[in-house]
Amino acid sequence: MLRENAWKKYEGESRKQVFDFAEGYKEFLSKCKTERECTTEAVREAKAHGYESLEEVLESGRSLKAGDKVYAENMGKSLALFHIGTVPMEKGMNILGAHIDSPRLDLKQNPLYEDTDLALLDTHYYGGVKKYQWVATPLALHGVVAKKDGTVVQVAVGEEEGEPVFGVSDLLVHLSATQLEKSGAKVIEGEDMNILVGSIPLEGEEKEPVKKQILKLLEEKYGIHEEDFTSAELEAVPAGRARDYGFDRSMIMSYGHDDRVCAYPSYQAMFTLEEVEKTCVCLLVDKEEIGSVGATGMQSRFFENTVAEVMNCAGQYSELALRRALKNSRMLSSDVSAAFDPNYPSVMEKNNSAYFGKGLTFNKYTGSRGKGGSNDANAEYIAKIRKVFDDCNVAWQTAELGKVDQGGGGTIAYILANYGMEVIDSGVCVLNMHAPWEIASKVDIYEAYKGYEAFLKYI
Ligand code: MN
Ligand code: MN
Repeated sequence: MLRENAWKKYEGESRKQVFDFAEGYKEFLSKCKTERECTTEAVREAKAHGYESLEEVLESGRSLKAGDKVYAENMGKSLALFHIGTVPMEKGMNILGAHIDSPRLDLKQNPLYEDTDLALLDTHYYGGVKKYQWVATPLALHGVVAKKDGTVVQVAVGEEEGEPVFGVSDLLVHLSATQLEKSGAKVIEGEDMNILVGSIPLEGEEKEPVKKQILKLLEEKYGIHEEDFTSAELEAVPAGRARDYGFDRSMIMSYGHDDRVCAYPSYQAMFTLEEVEKTCVCLLVDKEEIGSVGATGMQSRFFENTVAEVMNCAGQYSELALRRALKNSRMLSSDVSAAFDPNYPSVMEKNNSAYFGKGLTFNKYTGSRGKGGSNDANAEYIAKIRKVFDDCNVAWQTAELGKVDQGGGGTIAYILANYGMEVIDSGVCVLNMHAPWEIASKVDIYEAYKGYEAFLKYI
């Protein structure tokens, strides 16, 4: 059961392909820090690879045939790519799924206030975070402000050289005697995560002059007023680019590996396809970090409805054919896994952990307390995947998220499994999961890409 270090596959010249792929991923990470930005970028690249908007195909009344490539965007926050195969869709699709939302601090709907001549923005954290990791670190603001006149203002501040950054302060160690006696979960309280954004009073203003100065700047730069925060989605995320990690540059430190480290190789793998038998799909979804809820999360009917539209355009739709297409599909539900950390061995069981450099990780099940809430993949399906991956010389490993009863987590796998399709959890393992800066191995990312390609072509 010992697995070779995947770096050994890439000695000499061939190492370049691993590093080159990582460069593209780093660019994606540095540019795309919200689900909206990821969707926009994936759509841009899909178009460059010959994908057409499904909406436009529907409007034109044109039909779809084998070899056609379409994308469907869902409210700008999630996305499905379809590469139509030569056999009817009711035979099933090969589906790659990953999520593009990441933990962060969201601004509240009434966020801006002044206290002791300082202007602050109140937040509500999104997803599971160790709050103490998110203070005293530079944050950027990304998102949209939707105005009553129907226009939507894009905001991204804190990434470019010369732009200001923001942040949540932490208490100085000199006065932290009481704070440091608290448990880790309470060292920083959610309600205290307020972002400092200004300190100059507006000239000639007596009441809340610092807040008014910030509002004046926001109006000048974005044409927005305080009430516009009500209809805004602004996310405070770690500021700065993805960077190489380690003397040998074998790893990447970045915000948002969870789960863009699976999303990026997934949609890139779609671009390697030429003629395919089964229709291939890449699904990039939102809201996984808060339970896959809402219209843009995996639990919404978006995917099912979109498959129905695609089948209809291909002259293949009936209610029964749709049910069959979903039931006969095979899916890799990708999400990050916990990489074994030599600093914290006590929570891991070494024989069933994921390791950097050992390729794509498969989790037969996730969940917690006796596999609760997990999708437990079928042995027969795992055997098929093993064969495809081994035949294509893709490095892979299996793992559980930590020792039994140490904790756990969920993904989108169980939701697709509700259709009766074969689904397994897979993904790239990371260190520092859900911290502002997560770490992943370049060779694992490359193996994921090669593995996704193999899955789409041969499963
Ligand atoms: Mn995830
Ligand atoms: Mn997560």
